Amino acid sequence: MKKHNFNAGPSVLAQEVVERAAKAVLDFNDSGLSILSISHRTKDFDKVVADAEANFRELLHIPDNYRIFYIGGGASTFFYEVAANFLGKKAGYINTGVWSKKAIKEAKRYGEVEVLASSEDKNFSYIPKGVEIPTDLDYLHITSNNTIYGTEYHEDLDSPVPLVADMSSDILSHEFDITKYAMVYGGAQKNLAPAGVAFAIIREDFLEKQVRDLPTMMSFKTHVEKNSMYNTPPVFPIYVLGETLKWLKEIGGVKEIERRNKEKAALLYDEIDRNSLFRGTVEKEDRSLMNICFVMTEGHEDLADEFFKFATERGMVGIKGHRLVGGFRASCYNALPKESVEALVKCMQNFEQLHK
Ligand SMILES: *Cc1c(COP(=O)(O)O)cnc(C)c1O
Repeated sequence: MKKHNFNAGPSVLAQEVVERAAKAVLDFNDSGLSILSISHRTKDFDKVVADAEANFRELLHIPDNYRIFYIGGGASTFFYEVAANFLGKKAGYINTGVWSKKAIKEAKRYGEVEVLASSEDKNFSYIPKGVEIPTDLDYLHITSNNTIYGTEYHEDLDSPVPLVADMSSDILSHEFDITKYAMVYGGAQKNLAPAGVAFAIIREDFLEKQVRDLPTMMSFKTHVEKNSMYNTPPVFPIYVLGETLKWLKEIGGVKEIERRNKEKAALLYDEIDRNSLFRGTVEKEDRSLMNICFVMTEGHEDLADEFFKFATERGMVGIKGHRLVGGFRASCYNALPKESVEALVKCMQNFEQLHK
């Protein structure tokens, strides 16, 4: 049976990318060697990194005064490293869910954290608006897409202080203005690559603001100056990330993927709103294009397990909601085909018919 991969992360990658990766595992660039066993200090791998950089820049219109680097680890590594590098006195954080909270917890190790706004009062079902941003902060940190709760910023904030965003689960899913940010970072395993690598895009003047002496590997300057090759980088995940960026360019770039993502999300949200058995869990205006959460309507809660079984039997994978939200979550990342969303919608419609 065909599987429809709605996993929240690690998650679906484009079929073409998986095929190219499979080939590179056997024979990378006709070198007679596997990508798994080449040195990172070779011309061929230099080209992988250089191409990825060029494509990242082109896809996101990244100006020359920004640098791109990769680290082994994940977004969680950046939670403490951002603070270690830049939190001298006080930073502002907006708390929009589990990942924000974790970032806040780590930042507190390095200085004062002011939580400027939080949506915890309503189980993180909305994005706080009109937040007053003090001007004496080292930076302001936001989580642009809340993978667990299914909310997303749909506008770039105007911040008087350097803006840092965890974009793990929505990088390259829609157009945004990189020049509004001093740094964006994320784990690559949601929209770009298998697990094991995290990316960052950072403005040079912000990079220069490192506030304390740090172990070599924790300083962002190390990774920028050594072009992510101070130590052995995660070679294979970076290779796949590069192939994903090429694929994105081939299909028409971020504009086209945004169009596709909006189309997929509209299909599913429309069904959630129409179907008498299901309802959404967050404010409509803040609904995520990537992680679409829904629960059974009042009076139908006891059908949740049955629907899960029904959908699983029809090839749906990874639709169980996070334990903090319950219900269902369909992650519709860039590489998820529209047919998968159509198949899920069909499941929901058929399930409703059964219970009419
Ligand atoms: C998945 C995720 C993380 C955690 O990423 P790791 O790479 O596992 O550390 C952090 N933030 C967001 C928004 C995420 O979706």
